[in-house]
Amino acid sequence: MTLELHLAPYAARAGASRGRHYPEAAPLSRTEFQRDRDRIIHSTAFRRLEYKTQVFVNHEGDLFRTRLTHSLEVAQIGRSIARNLHLNEDLVEAIALAHDLGHTPFGHAGQDALNACMQAYGGFEHNLQSLRAVDRLEQHYGAFDGLNLMFETREGILKHCSLANARELGELGQRFLEGRQPTLEAQLANLADEIAYNNHDIDDGLRSGLITTAQLEEVDLYARHRRQVEQVFPGIKGRRAIYETLRRMIDVLVLDLIDTSGRLIAERAPANVEQVRSSAPMIRFSDTMRHEATQLKRFLYDNLYRHYLVNRMTSKARRIIAELFQAFLNEPALLPPDYQQAPADGAGDTAAQARKIADYIAGMTDRYAMREHRRLFAIDDL
Ligand code: MG
Repeated sequence: MTLELHLAPYAARAGASRGRHYPEAAPLSRTEFQRDRDRIIHSTAFRRLEYKTQVFVNHEGDLFRTRLTHSLEVAQIGRSIARNLHLNEDLVEAIALAHDLGHTPFGHAGQDALNACMQAYGGFEHNLQSLRAVDRLEQHYGAFDGLNLMFETREGILKHCSLANARELGELGQRFLEGRQPTLEAQLANLADEIAYNNHDIDDGLRSGLITTAQLEEVDLYARHRRQVEQVFPGIKGRRAIYETLRRMIDVLVLDLIDTSGRLIAERAPANVEQVRSSAPMIRFSDTMRHEATQLKRFLYDNLYRHYLVNRMTSKARRIIAELFQAFLNEPALLPPDYQQAPADGAGDTAAQARKIADYIAGMTDRYAMREHRRLFAIDDL
């Protein structure tokens, strides 16, 4: 496809793709991966991201990241790195915008709670659920369920996967069983995700008052750049100082990733995507930067994600999800008709009903889940 002529030989190309499950005529005015990105943006699951928690529950404040703004930041960071490495920007963007589609309401608390509820029925994993959303749950097209995305987009969405699940996924699960890598675009989207959340969670954490700039002095990456900012803008304070620091941190992470990955790619000189797949990961940070990024991650884990006020919200979220699940499992008649399994006719029906409930709950936004919980449990709320 002429629109992809600028790509490096190791980049993913529509022409060399494993294609779509249901064959479709090639698009006329865009690449296949642009078409994937467009389908993702038009999906219902994508619009729901606006009201799903990243770290802070949506109603806690209007300026915190949501899954939607997070996904946009991942796409932005991913695209600029992709362009530098002559990778397929459209594919990176599609993966970035879709990577969190399967997230439950209330962030990781919701995922853990739903996974606990689903233990007897095959478990619940948000990453696999993102794939399920684009493969099956979206109902937009006459000819198929799901969005019928390109193999490489679906592969990129499936960042990790248990071996048991991989065995059930056929071609898509193969790489987990064989220890092979996905495209460089998928590897890149994964690290762009990490760059995005590490930095925006600092911003949100400070904004919420749950962490302080004084605490952040123990994080080398932050402290170093905060000092640089002070040199350029002596006496700078407040949000401007935070933004000036964070933009430098993002920049240095992005540049390190471009530099380290670019050198690795040049060394190994993969001639095509097949060689990328059979090689060790090539999109990575330098050892020093990996060390600093891990330090930052640990700081956020200890001081923000486990903050007692976050724990309180997490605990409420867990109860809401668990109670919704149990109520629906005990009385499927409470579910909207689309989510009721056809009447039982043999073994496995409870598992199928449980999966439908998990799909329903996973699709909920934070506020929808809270409302639904009130509708089921508050006697004066209908
Ligand atoms: Mg993410």
